[in-house]
Amino acid sequence: MPTTLTRRHTLLGMGAVAAAPLTFFTRDASKPVGWAVLGLGSYATNQIMPAFKDCEHSKLVGLVSGHPAKLSHFGEQYGIPTANRFTYDSMDAIRGNPDIDVVYVITPPGTHPAFTVRSANLGKHVFSEKPMAPSVSDCQQMIDACRKNRRLLGVGYRCHFENHNLRAIQACRSGELGKIKSMRSDHGFSIGRGQWRTVKALAGGGSMMDIGIYSLNALRYLSGEEPREVHATIANPLNDDRFKEVEDTVDFKLSFPSGLVGHGTSGYSWQPGKNQYEVVGENATLFANPATYYDSHHFTVNGKEMAVTANDQFATMMDAFSKCLREGGKFQAPGEEGRQDIRIIQAIYASAASGKPVMLGR
Ligand code: NAD
Repeated sequence: MPTTLTRRHTLLGMGAVAAAPLTFFTRDASKPVGWAVLGLGSYATNQIMPAFKDCEHSKLVGLVSGHPAKLSHFGEQYGIPTANRFTYDSMDAIRGNPDIDVVYVITPPGTHPAFTVRSANLGKHVFSEKPMAPSVSDCQQMIDACRKNRRLLGVGYRCHFENHNLRAIQACRSGELGKIKSMRSDHGFSIGRGQWRTVKALAGGGSMMDIGIYSLNALRYLSGEEPREVHATIANPLNDDRFKEVEDTVDFKLSFPSGLVGHGTSGYSWQPGKNQYEVVGENATLFANPATYYDSHHFTVNGKEMAVTANDQFATMMDAFSKCLREGGKFQAPGEEGRQDIRIIQAIYASAASGKPVMLGR
């Protein structure tokens, strides 16, 4: 297995459990793995589709959308043959399509389970955007469908493939900062009205699901531990119709088995937004701002900029998945990783509702 993959496995080897390595991909290994993007919204068309040009092992070969006009527009732009452009009604024809190996689901989270199960049942590997799904049982359904069809399932945790975040993980876990005394992470932005993110059935929840998940996931990957208890509060502004169905501000505390405590926040009414984390060690303090953006990361240790070579996290992530399909091995962000975040978010919601800490079993 290549050194880089091994390194990431070590850095990100947390509680998420993956099945024994399997080699899934048997056709002509000289050809890149073929990906179809399902859902041609903002993230798919502005970040993911352009990143294929930087991929070594992955190629955009298909599109699936509910909008025929988008299929023609992006199909022409990316040179996708009409035979590989599908609507949600016609996508069952993907079964047996020799070009398409992976379906990348980039629609609202409430729709991830159905599209994932459908794609796995069509015999395709599935990559789902975060948050994986509204509930733990939805996540399990996605994992089970892929397992039953012997297909690989990945979740779009791009920060697990981003060089600054990988360097921060190394600094936290290697003792470079000294014993970690505390960590906190804050993520939020100001959300507009009338979008799916404010509709519970589509979003699964509010800011915690959409952006607070970056705070939560960072606290997990920086510490390398799984929380055993959460304690949270939620605050919604009065008379703001954006928060009729979903929450605005979440303040949460994660207690880890080592005794370390991580603080996280999340918000949807924050102007200006926040995108940062801070880790205080006995010897040094690491501060990242922006920490989890698409680019422009800025990481310091005791105020001095960390020397990190920027990379294309989207291309690196897709290529890592493609390499697992070809060579076998454990993908760093499997369905179990997505399910673990949803499990903790559900405990955060339960704690906020009851006003009490919630224990997380193993
Ligand atoms: P968007 O609204 O821009 O796009 C959503 C797409 O899904 C649209 O093309 C829409 O037509 C389609 N869609 C399919 N079924 C739908 C339904 N029932 N209701 C509404 N739209 C439906 O949203 P987005 O910002 O591109 O987010 C899409 C997914 O990507 C979400 O899961 C989101 O959390 C994730 N995302 C991830 C990142 C990241 O950095 N990893 C960033 C942004 C979004």
